[in-house]
Amino acid sequence: MQTPARFEDVLAKWPSAKVRDLIMSRTEEDAAAALRATGAWSPETLAALLSPAAERFLEQLKALSADWTRRRFGRTVQVFDPLYVSNYCCNGCRYCGFNARSRDTVRRALSLEEAEAEARALAASGVKNILLLSGEDKVRSSPEYFCRLARAIRPLFAEVSVEIYACTEDEYRELHAAGVDGMTMFQETYNPAVYGEYHPFGPKADFSNRLDAYDRAARAGMAFLGLGALLGINDWREEGFFLGLHAAWLRKRHWRCATAFSFPRIRPAHGGEPPPFPLSDAGLVQLMCALRVSFPDSPITVSTREAPGFREELVRIAATKISAGAKTTPGGYTSSTGADAQFETSDRRSVAEVLASLRANGIDPVMKDWDGAFSAAPGAGDAAE
Ligand code: SF4
Repeated sequence: MQTPARFEDVLAKWPSAKVRDLIMSRTEEDAAAALRATGAWSPETLAALLSPAAERFLEQLKALSADWTRRRFGRTVQVFDPLYVSNYCCNGCRYCGFNARSRDTVRRALSLEEAEAEARALAASGVKNILLLSGEDKVRSSPEYFCRLARAIRPLFAEVSVEIYACTEDEYRELHAAGVDGMTMFQETYNPAVYGEYHPFGPKADFSNRLDAYDRAARAGMAFLGLGALLGINDWREEGFFLGLHAAWLRKRHWRCATAFSFPRIRPAHGGEPPPFPLSDAGLVQLMCALRVSFPDSPITVSTREAPGFREELVRIAATKISAGAKTTPGGYTSSTGADAQFETSDRRSVAEVLASLRANGIDPVMKDWDGAFSAAPGAGDAAE
């Protein structure tokens, strides 16, 4: 069957009410059958694993997830760190302290030299994978700015990725040519009505443009696509289902790209609103493990939003990427800038402390498992059709 050209065409066949019905109608027999069929994905099995009926089997799901994780990734976890270059933003995301209406947010945009100094400080701590982030401000943090920064710091890192605003295909192509290997961008929610409520103005208010960005990035040659929903603004079971649907579509269309998952829970933020759908630790474990056993090869990132002991538990059962000593303030690695952070981190340990703790728990932290030479592979990211 032909893969639909746009993910929005897939979403149109899965309205939220239908997804919720599918999930809530799964029985314990369905959940038990889904546990016997792990390693492959189908809408029905993922719905069963995410359902309330599967809660009874949580320990079994965790064991299966840990097994798939070890089989595909060994006892390793890749270490990366974010570098926030600016907290200026023209969008109105209601949950975020960087939003344009947050008048008393202390803002800062790093010059190229300052951002490079931050990257050098991170590299000196041993980190070899870096994620460049900013709010949406195409003047202070333009695609050209990120291209110049990527070129300058590329020799210091095994992997450079961006988590920025939705770009055009040409912009993604330029970023890739400058040495950017992958992009992460959270759709925040796959429910268009909820999306509209939480993104009242700014370029990000365009749901379709954001949803299409992953396809544009893949066509431009990005090797990694990071997916995520902001957990807390909508029903997590529904968002988990859509994450699976999205990953399955991207994998069919861009089979050379790795699709990865993140599961950011809303944390308190300066100027942000509390979440209407808070997600418990047990719910996060069920969600993460359901995606792991459905997509065993997909990297999963555990956020610095989570507490130290819980992060290590998530690495043991499902996660394969972890930040260490992360700062969410522009300039946070080299100075105390006074600028506001995007959200409060729960894990404030240094890189060395995180690595030591992982090793003590039998996990091998990997600083580099990718070589930039692969970025130049011809045709990377081509559509499979
Ligand atoms: S979530 Fe991102 S786009 Fe939205 S206000 Fe915050 S920084 Fe801007």
